[in-house]
Amino acid sequence: MTDIVVLGSTNMDLVAYVEKAPQRGETVTGREFRTVPGGKGANQAIAAARAGATVSMIGAVGNDAFGSRLRATLEHSGVNTDHLRTTEGPSGTAHIVVDAEGGNSIVVVPGANATVDRVLPRDEGCIASADSLLLQLETPLSAVLAGARTARAHGVRTILTPAPAQPLPPELLAATDLLVPNEHEAAALTGLTDPREAAAALLERVPEVVVTLGAAGSLYAARGAEPLTVPAPRVTAVDSTGAGDTFVGALAVALGEARPVREALSWAATAAALSVQRAGASASMPYRPEIEAGYA
Ligand code: ADP
Repeated sequence: MTDIVVLGSTNMDLVAYVEKAPQRGETVTGREFRTVPGGKGANQAIAAARAGATVSMIGAVGNDAFGSRLRATLEHSGVNTDHLRTTEGPSGTAHIVVDAEGGNSIVVVPGANATVDRVLPRDEGCIASADSLLLQLETPLSAVLAGARTARAHGVRTILTPAPAQPLPPELLAATDLLVPNEHEAAALTGLTDPREAAAALLERVPEVVVTLGAAGSLYAARGAEPLTVPAPRVTAVDSTGAGDTFVGALAVALGEARPVREALSWAATAAALSVQRAGASASMPYRPEIEAGYA
């Protein structure tokens, strides 16, 4: 089995559904409220575990009720949480207001995620023995960089999702093997709206890039090779929250199993297409037998 470590965020998403989002000073009555376990780190960990890898999560939750539920959610999908610390104070939360048109506004309060600012000595062995380390940008950059460097020092593949979009320090890119932005993140990083041009520009900084293109699939680019476009299955999308995390988790599993790149991208697209057809982020992520059945 592929051994994957995720260093990243866990959040509880607190989602209020309203007709129209309130203006400053205004109070509105909502239709519905849901608490949904999330955070890009936890989502990628769950996606990879369900896709068939052995997965450990490095991160932190608070010593509140959300923290216990976030940990239990990870464990329920088979993610090892021995390296998920419980810290004093609140867990990370995302306060989301969704209006009747599906538009949203979000406040993220990092909470415990802000304490993940370095790689602890006890986490180093976990990273060193993995096949791949998955990183995103919802924990402090200092930890992301330390994780990438630890992985690099031990020959572990580093896969970075540059979200939320922000300028990336050259040291982090230098320790990244595979960068997986969506098209908006690729444009934000390069100033280029054409995904092919953005991918080409990013190849000057990292050896391999996958730009995800929503329903249009993904674009793979590597130094010295022709770019490859792999389509996504045509499906009716119900909720695309977490599609990118499902894609990255499954892609890491397929690459860890040494599948050829085109096949790995297509397998990841199968997993992501299954997830967009159901509501929820991590709750909608498919288990391996379902991915295999969809891929065949
Ligand atoms: P993100 O969720 O990070 O914004 P994308 O929207 O690019 O990223 O989606 C990631 C991947 O999920 C895509 O490359 C594709 O494989 C899959 N996907 C997303 N939306 C759809 C859709 N409507 N139909 C089929 N696959 C989709």
